[in-house]
Amino acid sequence: MQKQIPLPAGTTAPRTPTADQIRRAPKVVLHDHLDGGLRPETIVELAAACGYQKLPTTDPAKLGVWFREAADSGSLERYLETFAHTCAVMQTREGLVRVAAEAAEDLAADGVVYAEIRYAPEQHLEGGLTLDQVVEAVQEGFRIGEANARANGDRIKVGTLLTAMRHAARSQEIAELANRHRDTGVVGFDIAGAEAGFPPTRHQAAFDYLKGENNHFTIHAGEAFGLPSIWEALQCCGADRLGHGVRITDDITVHDDGTVTLGRLAAYVRDKRIPLEMCPTSNLQTGAATSYTEHPIGLLTRLKYRVTVNTDNRLMSGTSMSQEFAHLIEAFGYDLDDMQWFTVNALKSAFLPFDERLAMINDVVKPGYAELKSEWLFGASA
Ligand SMILES: [Zn+2]
Repeated sequence: MQKQIPLPAGTTAPRTPTADQIRRAPKVVLHDHLDGGLRPETIVELAAACGYQKLPTTDPAKLGVWFREAADSGSLERYLETFAHTCAVMQTREGLVRVAAEAAEDLAADGVVYAEIRYAPEQHLEGGLTLDQVVEAVQEGFRIGEANARANGDRIKVGTLLTAMRHAARSQEIAELANRHRDTGVVGFDIAGAEAGFPPTRHQAAFDYLKGENNHFTIHAGEAFGLPSIWEALQCCGADRLGHGVRITDDITVHDDGTVTLGRLAAYVRDKRIPLEMCPTSNLQTGAATSYTEHPIGLLTRLKYRVTVNTDNRLMSGTSMSQEFAHLIEAFGYDLDDMQWFTVNALKSAFLPFDERLAMINDVVKPGYAELKSEWLFGASA
C-alpha cells in the first residue's frame, strides 16, 4: 500500500501520519464492547458505590495494568475474570448510564466520529433491572456522552448493537429487544462468546426473526474457530458482517512467487464485500494472530477485502482506535489515504441508514482527511 510518488526537491513533507494526526483523523469503530472499555477509576468508584469487593486492587493505575496483564496471560479463566469485574459494576441504572456516557466521550476524544458499541443486556440483570430498563439506561448514557463530547469540542454519533451470548439461550428474546428499540438508536444485533461447541446455528431462530423484520446483525466468527464458523455465519444465519473473521485466511493460499489463490469461501467473502471487523491487538492477546506484521489484516487489505479496524475491548487491550492505527502504520507503512480507506469501509458497512452513512463519508470523513493531508503545505492548524 506504500505509495511511491516522488516528492519535489526540497520538500520534507512527512509521509507517515504523526500521532497527533492519527488522533485528529475522523475514525469509525464498528466493534467495541461496552463492558470492555471502562475507565479503571470508574470501576473503582462504581464498585465502592455498589459494595462490590472482589476487585484485585482499588488503585486505578494498578487496576488498568491488571486488566491488560490478565487479558495477555493466555489464560481463558483470567480473561473471563476481567469481564466478571466490569459487569459486576454495571448492574444499576446509574452505573450503566455513566459507563455508556464515558465510552462515548472517550471515543470522541480519540477522534471517533461514529461508533457502534455492543453489549449483552442479559449480563446486567443482577440488580433487578429488566432487559428494557438496561437498554434504556445505556441509550440515555450514549446520548449524554454525545452531548458532553459536543461540549468538549468533539463530535460523535453512537449506534448500539445488542449482543446475545452464544452459550446461553436468550438470543430470541434479545433479538426481539433489539427490534423493539431500533427506532431509538439500537442499530443491530450480535452474538458473542466461545465459538467452539457453540455454532451460530444454535441461534437460527433469532436470525430468522431478524431477517423477517428486515433488521441487521453481525456475528463473532472466525476468531478462535475457523472456516466452518464463518461459513455458517454467512450461509446459514445470513450475517451482514463478521466479527473478526481473521481465519478467512485459512482459505487463502499465498504462493512462493507472491501470487495468491482464494478458496470458494474466501472468494465469496471478497466478492460479496462482506465486512470484516478486525481487531488486531485483541487478536494478538487471544492468539488469533502472532504479531502486528504477521496479522492477516495486511494480506486482506492488500487483496482489497472490506476490512475495517476496531478496538474490541479498549480496557483489556489497553488500546484505542488511534493506537490500533498507530500499530498498523508501523507494521505496514500505511498513510492517511489508507486510514481514510479503512474509515470509509467502516461507514459503508455500518448499520446506520444509507443517507446518514453517505453524509458522514462526504461531509465528515473526506473533508477531515483532506484537511490533514494539506497540513504539510500550511503546517498543522492549532
Ligand atoms: Zn468482540
